[in-house]
Amino acid sequence: MSDPLSLPFTEARRQLSAREYVGASLRAIGEHNAKLNAFIHVAGEGAGGPLSVPIAIKDNIVTRDMPTTCGSQILAKFVSPFEATAVSRLRAAGWSIVGKTNLDEFAMGSSTEHSAFGPVRNPWNTARVAGGSSGGSAAAVAARMVPAALGSETGGSVRQPAAFCGVVGLKPTYGRVSRSGLVAFASGLDQIGIITKTVRECAELLGVIGGHDPLDSTSSAQAVDDYGADVDRGVRGLRFGVVSEAVEKLEGEVRTNFDAALEILRRGGAVVEPASVPTIGHAIAIYYIVANAEASANLARFDGVRYGHRSARGKTLRDLYFDSRGEGFGAEVKRRIMLGTFALSSGYYEAYYGRAQAVRARLRADFDAAFQRFDFLLTPTTPEVAFPIGAKTDDPLSMYLSDIFTAPANLVGIPALAVPSGFSREGLPLSLQIMAPHFAERALFRAAAFFEKETNYWRRAPKL
Ligand code: GLN
Repeated sequence: MSDPLSLPFTEARRQLSAREYVGASLRAIGEHNAKLNAFIHVAGEGAGGPLSVPIAIKDNIVTRDMPTTCGSQILAKFVSPFEATAVSRLRAAGWSIVGKTNLDEFAMGSSTEHSAFGPVRNPWNTARVAGGSSGGSAAAVAARMVPAALGSETGGSVRQPAAFCGVVGLKPTYGRVSRSGLVAFASGLDQIGIITKTVRECAELLGVIGGHDPLDSTSSAQAVDDYGADVDRGVRGLRFGVVSEAVEKLEGEVRTNFDAALEILRRGGAVVEPASVPTIGHAIAIYYIVANAEASANLARFDGVRYGHRSARGKTLRDLYFDSRGEGFGAEVKRRIMLGTFALSSGYYEAYYGRAQAVRARLRADFDAAFQRFDFLLTPTTPEVAFPIGAKTDDPLSMYLSDIFTAPANLVGIPALAVPSGFSREGLPLSLQIMAPHFAERALFRAAAFFEKETNYWRRAPKL
């Protein structure tokens, strides 16, 4: 048999015993991790129970048998006393957690360069970033170290690294997957997401981890769908809107690739027409106010008393707070806390946070109106291919613009999926983003599966 990790798990698990499958994954991790730095922790041989499929978990989702660092010095030795609901559901379904993946500190970033444990390297070109913040999860799947991984999304952290690494990435509808055990960044935007090689695998996994959870009051009571049911139905008659305001300035290979993707959908019998989401250009401005405001509140709990790193330097309680946070948090996290605290401060609250929430409501109304006419909305997943390591670390604004096409779905709460759409001349992955109305994941998988079947880019693996 060919390398089992190059097959979808839906096939590999029929051919392999649980022990063989997990063993193959642990071997591949052992072989490639020194080069890619995708994993922060790797489980020991024989981890778990009667296992079937290996999976990696982003290291901001808590597990009991391995630490959860959030890519931060402040939590470098933290082991959670409980497990995330998504993780317990995976275990109950027979999955084996083989490791915890590297990320930007507290999921704040678009390149996994803001990790206290060093950057993740892109398996297609190790001088390039893997994207972020779930860069470890995306690189691990792309490099065939695991057949699947969980990531987290606040503004694009699953889709953007999936795009840079040439794999499938899903951000589910807000409330579709329990956030219990996902370390909070911006609670009103956060959602656990899924990274796989193929759309069908992604659909199966959503069925495992999705659904209501009494431990997360924002999780939806809506029943879990049969997500893979329509993956073979094609796109004839389905209506795709191309978000004009987002794509008008596209150039170069991203433009040609995107236009080619539209043609593939048209050939399949889909209706592909221009759509308008007039406020979409404000998404990044709204996102970096709302997300940082929520982050400044959520990260207040890391005070050296209750969790994580405690500084022994100072004498007073005030010293303890200042030193523990000063020593434990990295520069980007500090920047976010300061920006968020400012946006919420008295005298500025209305001008920043209040305004951002008002424009966010308009953005949502614009999406609702567009979905009156279309089943799906399309953009490229990212405005460019994976950039060189170091290219944006001194320019936070240009790093933030990496999320220009992904952040809108988080602000509006809709599901969105990144599917590989080809390769640049330099051999770097390109990606198509498909967005759908709230809870329309089943339709999303249908559309993406058609595109995948027509193109088959997932079969190409990076040479390591
Ligand atoms: N890149 C975005 C940020 O830095 C999104 C992060 C995420 O989705 N967790 O905030």
